[in-house]
Amino acid sequence: IPTPVTLLGAGAMGTALARAWLAAGHPVTVWNRTPVRAERLAAEGAVVAASPAEAVAAGRLVVLCLLDDASVGEALDGADLTGRDLVNLTTGTPAEGRKRAAWAAERGARFLDGGIMAVPPMIGAADSGGYVFYSGSSELFEEHRATLAVPAGTEYVGADPGFAALHDVALLSAMSGMFAGVLHAFALIRREDIAPGDFAPLLVSWLGAMAPMAHQTAAQLESGDFAKGVVSNLAMQVAGNATLLRTAEEQGVSPELLTPYMSLMERRLADGHGEEDTTGVVELLAPRKG
Ligand code: NDP
Repeated sequence: IPTPVTLLGAGAMGTALARAWLAAGHPVTVWNRTPVRAERLAAEGAVVAASPAEAVAAGRLVVLCLLDDASVGEALDGADLTGRDLVNLTTGTPAEGRKRAAWAAERGARFLDGGIMAVPPMIGAADSGGYVFYSGSSELFEEHRATLAVPAGTEYVGADPGFAALHDVALLSAMSGMFAGVLHAFALIRREDIAPGDFAPLLVSWLGAMAPMAHQTAAQLESGDFAKGVVSNLAMQVAGNATLLRTAEEQGVSPELLTPYMSLMERRLADGHGEEDTTGVVELLAPRKG
């Protein structure tokens, strides 16, 4: 029989997770603070628990998908977690993941933290590209691997319970910079006779063509040689920035999304690294330890 799953949280994401497990034949016990959201799942075959403690008592594998780390502490306060396998899919910081793991250990539970790289419609959909980062107990992960793979792909990134959140947030941070650039680009063309819909495919293919440069950045960070394989050195890029800024000014567009990154590039150039790649900006953001 498929492994029973207890799920705390029937928000947008929790509901998608529950449906994926139900569709795959897993018995699902669900609890939600506002009962009506859990009751909708009862019609689809889930058992609704009246309290978190009752839900946790229903089975060993307990998945949490609540708003934030504070709601996890609140929901599980007073529940007996002895012998439970907690899988926390609530978004949090690395430090919250580590603290929550220690908290679970004190209560006799194994703990796996997760970071969901998907939106609800991608959950349970084959080949959607969605997946979940996991870190923490490798025993728990191995034991429940098949069950965890039902809603989305699985990517175990280490025993440190903070690593799932760290990978999750690092990717989201990269995405945030990318979308900032996308918005600036749309702002540049806005007052002209260029349709955003015609421009979007050009943006998408350009960003796709440039994204693999991250491999070179990684190789430079690993070797410590930031000039290795450089094709667009920092001195040239800083000069190019002047064109980006002048164009923004000509088009009447605020440069405020561009300037923080440009200041860092200028500082690195002023430190004498003009022949290197932009990789050295990482040194300014996060100087090497020791
Ligand atoms: P929703 O806002 O739809 O649901 C939030 C859930 O948390 C509800 O079940 C809510 O209960 C519950 N909740 C909030 N506060 C408390 C509390 N103090 N005690 C108990 N329960 C509480 O959010 P999602 O389902 O979309 O998100 C859930 C998690 O999944 C979040 O951590 C989010 O970051 C993550 N996630 C979501 C993605 C998305 O696209 N939706 C993508 C990737 C990750 P109630 O119904 O009573 O309000």
